[in-house]
Amino acid sequence: MDKKTAIITGGGSGIGFACVEKFISENYQVVIIDYAVNGIDQKLSDANIPSSEVHIHQANVADFNELESIFNLLPDLRATALINCAGISPSTKPLHDYDVEEWKRCVDINLNGSFYASKLFAKQFIKNKLKEGSVINISSIMGKRGTPGHAVYSATKHAVLGLTKSMAQDYASMNLRVNAIGPGVIETPMTSSFLKDDAFQKFFLSKIPMQRAGKASEIANTAYFLCSSEASYLTGAYIPVDGGFLAV
Ligand code: NAD
Repeated sequence: MDKKTAIITGGGSGIGFACVEKFISENYQVVIIDYAVNGIDQKLSDANIPSSEVHIHQANVADFNELESIFNLLPDLRATALINCAGISPSTKPLHDYDVEEWKRCVDINLNGSFYASKLFAKQFIKNKLKEGSVINISSIMGKRGTPGHAVYSATKHAVLGLTKSMAQDYASMNLRVNAIGPGVIETPMTSSFLKDDAFQKFFLSKIPMQRAGKASEIANTAYFLCSSEASYLTGAYIPVDGGFLAV
């Protein structure tokens, strides 16, 4: 098989879909794992991506058994890249107003989902005796900072960095590199409602030195770079892509 394969969780929307577009443009074939798969075919067609290049699987990343049954279909693709992008951002409120189930759901998707997919990917990488590979965990600027009303999201995104740093050491000798990206405020369906909010614009965008939100393609370009041989000595890192937000 000529083409490399990238597995992208949450590949049906926003940053994940931008990664699909970028990796396809760089001659990869892509496996999308997402629980919302309706409409992905249309998006692919709108982006002029041949459906033969993309395998779409519906699964909840928070369900290990569902993910395992999908990974069991994939070994022949010999995937060398995994992008853990599936995630949710719960509503903003102080800690005492979170109910326990809401907290657990966010941990299940944002943290456990990345662990499950990474575990299955690493096992397959080892079994296939691949020579190089890359895992990208999509964290956030909230993986480095706390913000009022976002305790669970911030906790999961910090945890993803711990996962990244330890995993990088587990697999460094196998040339399986593991890095995290910390997107700032990026224009996607996840942020569309609050990007329209004047108060948010005033408060948050004024704190971004580049004075604009980022584009999903700007995260996808970084993900592709981290998976490429240009980043061959880069592992265990957190790369903020945030218009300078964390530099302040
Ligand atoms: P999005 O809502 O556009 O896309 C998220 C995708 O994940 C969707 O396709 C959704 O169906 C999928 N998904 C959610 N829960 C899932 C589950 N349990 N199982 C399978 N798929 C699931 O959001 P986005 O902005 O593209 O976010 C992508 C990632 O980037 C998330 O991890 C998010 O936390 C992170 N992030 C986004 C921003 C931003 O400003 N947009 C900033 C920092 C980090």
